[in-house]
Amino acid sequence: MATTVREALEFLNEIAPPQWAFPNDPIGLQLGDPNQTVERVLVALDPDPRTVTQAKYRDCQLLVTHHPLIFRPLSKIRFDDPVGMAVQLLCEAKIALIAVHTNWDVAPGGINDTLAELLELTEIRPFGEGPARQEYKIAVFTPTPHIDAVIDAMANAGAGVIGLYRRCAFYASGVGTYEPMEGANPYLGQVGKREHAEEMRIEMLVPAERLNAVVQAMRRAHPYEEVAYDVYPLHTRAEHALGRVGVLPKPMLASELRDYLAQKLGNPFVRHYGKPSKVIRTLAVVGGSGGDYLPDAQQFHADALLTGEVRHHHTWEAWARDVVLFEGGHAETETPGAHRLADRLREFLAPRGVEVFFAGGES
Ligand SMILES: [Zn+2]
Repeated sequence: MATTVREALEFLNEIAPPQWAFPNDPIGLQLGDPNQTVERVLVALDPDPRTVTQAKYRDCQLLVTHHPLIFRPLSKIRFDDPVGMAVQLLCEAKIALIAVHTNWDVAPGGINDTLAELLELTEIRPFGEGPARQEYKIAVFTPTPHIDAVIDAMANAGAGVIGLYRRCAFYASGVGTYEPMEGANPYLGQVGKREHAEEMRIEMLVPAERLNAVVQAMRRAHPYEEVAYDVYPLHTRAEHALGRVGVLPKPMLASELRDYLAQKLGNPFVRHYGKPSKVIRTLAVVGGSGGDYLPDAQQFHADALLTGEVRHHHTWEAWARDVVLFEGGHAETETPGAHRLADRLREFLAPRGVEVFFAGGES
């Protein structure tokens, strides 16, 4: 029993849809063959050479990490450079690499939900800007019997995804009119004669990166020789919030909360910036580098924000905004969510006889 890299990727795309990633975040299959057979998987936070070596000695065919290995286009791959070294090791051991990054930060049950649950927050709700993507609305005019074929073709090419719903479309009936000219080969009507045809106007959302593929698929599925369609750019919006905010099990002084966080995250070096005597009831959390979410935390009336690492200017901004800022460690705030990712993969892959490990030996 086994699976393939492609099947594992399709499952990951279901629990952390790629369209939820921030623009230019190079998630997905970064290296390897989608058709490769997989019997063992290693999950980790980072695809560093040490982790790749561990995947090799555990005889894994797939490594799934939170952080991508290749962040910017590579101009060279040198084996004495840490990224090049990891690429070399992955290629030599024939290990595929999949990254599930900001799409897993945002996803239900992902990095930030897991962090909020670990801290025993209640009344958890999303907060803060998420990934904003350029989207288009495509409107196409189709003879009524062809509605489903055209909607299916566009959906299969990537149109019509809204949150956790796919094949989303709207249609309304109307009458299209036209006159075929000499040389035309009309699906309905005759050359030189004005035609009135019952048509449906179908509307679907399309992310920018799928627009060309969707238009091509729509034209192939459409019966008309000349297809009438419009493409409208939409006001860019952020549909999914990245952070989570919730209520602590009990109100705590900032200094007490620091100890609570240190214990929950397993990091004695948690630091805090802002008024130590402030009583914290609601806590906002953003795993990783989330200092820029201070204004959002303030807007959501959070008393404090926990993130992994902060820049110097965030430390005085915390005082100025009266939002206590906790720096819990990049790895410490994201590892619980990476473990959750391993658990989800294991639920899916164990019935297929595939073993899933977490880097470092824990599972
Ligand atoms: Zn991170």
